[in-house]
Amino acid sequence: MSTHSIPVIINQHPKLPSFNMNEIAFGKNFTDHMLVADYENGEWKNMQIKPYAPFEVDPSCATLHYGQTIFEGIKAFKNEKEEVVIFRPDQNFIRFNTSAARMQMPSVPEWLFMDGMKQLIELEKAWIPNKPDASLYIRPFMIAMDPFLGVRPSATYKFMIILGPSGPYFSAPMKILIEEHYTRATPGGVGFAKNGGNYGASLFPVVVAQEKGYDQVLWTDAIEHKFVEEVGMMNVMFVMDGKVITPSLERGTVLKGVTRDSSITLLREMGYEVEERNLSVAEIVEAHKKGLFQEVFGVGTAAVVSYISRLAHGEYVMDFDVNNLKVAPALKKQLHDLRMGNIVDKHNWLYHI
Ligand SMILES: *Cc1c(COP(=O)(O)O)cnc(C)c1O
Repeated sequence: MSTHSIPVIINQHPKLPSFNMNEIAFGKNFTDHMLVADYENGEWKNMQIKPYAPFEVDPSCATLHYGQTIFEGIKAFKNEKEEVVIFRPDQNFIRFNTSAARMQMPSVPEWLFMDGMKQLIELEKAWIPNKPDASLYIRPFMIAMDPFLGVRPSATYKFMIILGPSGPYFSAPMKILIEEHYTRATPGGVGFAKNGGNYGASLFPVVVAQEKGYDQVLWTDAIEHKFVEEVGMMNVMFVMDGKVITPSLERGTVLKGVTRDSSITLLREMGYEVEERNLSVAEIVEAHKKGLFQEVFGVGTAAVVSYISRLAHGEYVMDFDVNNLKVAPALKKQLHDLRMGNIVDKHNWLYHI
């Protein structure tokens, strides 16, 4: 295997070791170095790991106007033995290039994404908190760079990876409103891609739900608002009559989450029956009325497993006792033990640094 080594410029004014690792907040603090590469004349060049810093863009930069931009979210962990692992980055690499193709952006070679990430993390190892549930959040992204206002695919791009230490992610159980007016994703659209516009478009509906006393929305299909899709920016899982049900991916309106995929595998190993299929709001309400709707929770890299204490369909409110959940906490523990090296990694999901 050939390993590409990316030239490094060391930060002469590092924030570590004086930076207080007890004051880290998700998405706010970044490490001392970042990876940068430029796409020009049909190839990736100028690969570099260098001091984390702002950079200039032309005010006509295509990304700023038309949103040709994609990203990923990955986590690295340090266990009690001080070993560093990245959780399933190969899956994020595949999804990154799937997103790139849908947004008419160039693909990124594996050595740049994977080896570049490993090299950057090796350099920034000291930034990985070794507290339970804390991690190093990895944010690869690509932006269009052409200084041009015509609507056409850019000819130049920047690929970057930035890293941020992330504390134990405490998320309070969420109150969720089933969304029946606004949509996150449409068939034929870009819902399966991790592109910036999806997130910009989701902000307003969430604020509307917050004004009604909810934390987030449960997105439903764009055509009839009949089938459930995702909860906020997470995949969603329901436990009904002892079975786990999660929306299927075939319409292209549900993002193919790595946590979703890992959860399906782990839940099956734990003995649960897991169904990937269409699930209607009517079926959910019916199950609740029969007393068969036991749990609902979100799964994603940032919060891992997020409990839901209330799910509302208009005036019909379904409450869950989050202190007596069975499946969600068991799944959370399994994912945690796996990433911390407490159980055998039989699927080879951990990339050791
Ligand atoms: C990133 C994301 C997820 C979760 O994916 P993971 O790979 O598990 O982090 C789910 N839904 C949406 C819309 C997302 O952007």
